[in-house]
Amino acid sequence: MLNLLWLLLPVAAAGGWFAARRATARDTPPAFNYYQGLNYLLNEQPDKAVEWFGELSPGEKDAADTRLALGNMFRRRGEVERAIPIHQALVDNTEVSDDLRADALFELARDFEAAGLFDRAESLFTQLTNNERYAPRAWQSLLLISERERDWDKAIETAASYSRVSGTDVNNLIAHYHCELADIAAQQEDVAAAVSLLQKATTTDTDCARANVMWGALALQEHDYQTAIERFERVEKQRPELMPEIIKPLFTALDLAGDQAALRAYIDRIKGRFNAYSVIKTTRAMIEKLDGRAEADDFFKDQIVKRPSLKGLRDWARGQLAKSPPAEREKVEAMCDMLDQVVKDKPGFQCSDCGFRGSTLYWRCPGCGHWDTVQTVIGAEGE
Ligand SMILES: [Zn+2]
Repeated sequence: MLNLLWLLLPVAAAGGWFAARRATARDTPPAFNYYQGLNYLLNEQPDKAVEWFGELSPGEKDAADTRLALGNMFRRRGEVERAIPIHQALVDNTEVSDDLRADALFELARDFEAAGLFDRAESLFTQLTNNERYAPRAWQSLLLISERERDWDKAIETAASYSRVSGTDVNNLIAHYHCELADIAAQQEDVAAAVSLLQKATTTDTDCARANVMWGALALQEHDYQTAIERFERVEKQRPELMPEIIKPLFTALDLAGDQAALRAYIDRIKGRFNAYSVIKTTRAMIEKLDGRAEADDFFKDQIVKRPSLKGLRDWARGQLAKSPPAEREKVEAMCDMLDQVVKDKPGFQCSDCGFRGSTLYWRCPGCGHWDTVQTVIGAEGE
């Protein structure tokens, strides 16, 4: 019931204002029947409420506002099948003003969108791009539809139109759309097309770390180690929190490039700073390969003291198992198992906007649809 009351607020606001205006105009008490309509809603009799509100003269702005709010309330409650006829009736009514018809058209488009009828929503939003007042919101809605349909070419065009009418900077979005197209080209093993699209992404948005992550991976696959190193080092400068995503391929490229001095210089850089756990773990493996177990263990111990994490503690404890006296081994093993369990239940990534949690990096949050908001969980419980 509490939720219903919240949903009714817009109807109450529109209706209350309407009733008050009538009272002022005619110097009579507010129309009692308006509250009758609200009563129908509160008593879960939506059909009677629709019938009652339907008796308001549709030509009056106040009455149209009340119906708009009523339709919106039904949509928010998930009852789009009730919202659609209310908004459609307003659109079809010849007595309402052009402004009100545009309001109703926009709400009807949102109803179709909520119902999953994207073709119909798209058609109405497209009509509204010619309306100065609604053009920015209509282009924005069309952009979200293109994203949902993963039509990235269309999204690029739509984003440009949205930017033109709203003044919003959409370069980061367009760069992501180029990256999506590059991803498709890479899956089809068309490396040249993929690289060309990644070039477009980095030209559109010079800070597009995603394009550099993808470009580095493609260059490594093509044995172009210098390009891979250069692209991964850009990611490190642009978004250091993405280091866990690139550290393995970066070490592979440094190793395969055959430049020992560059590889050692990079390891020295890592030694001098605080690192995410996957960076520590991968660097440890490389030090072990180059200089042996003892050097690797010293590095590991030094790093996990600098930046403690559950994952680090677990792996350190596992390392101690072999060195423990037999009587102690069972206890250490039990501790390792507990830490395994704790680490397993921790999400590696979280959206800073909606709180969505997951174990893989998404460039577009599956929860709220925002770009670049899913981030590595940093700290003792994460990286
Ligand atoms: Zn989100």
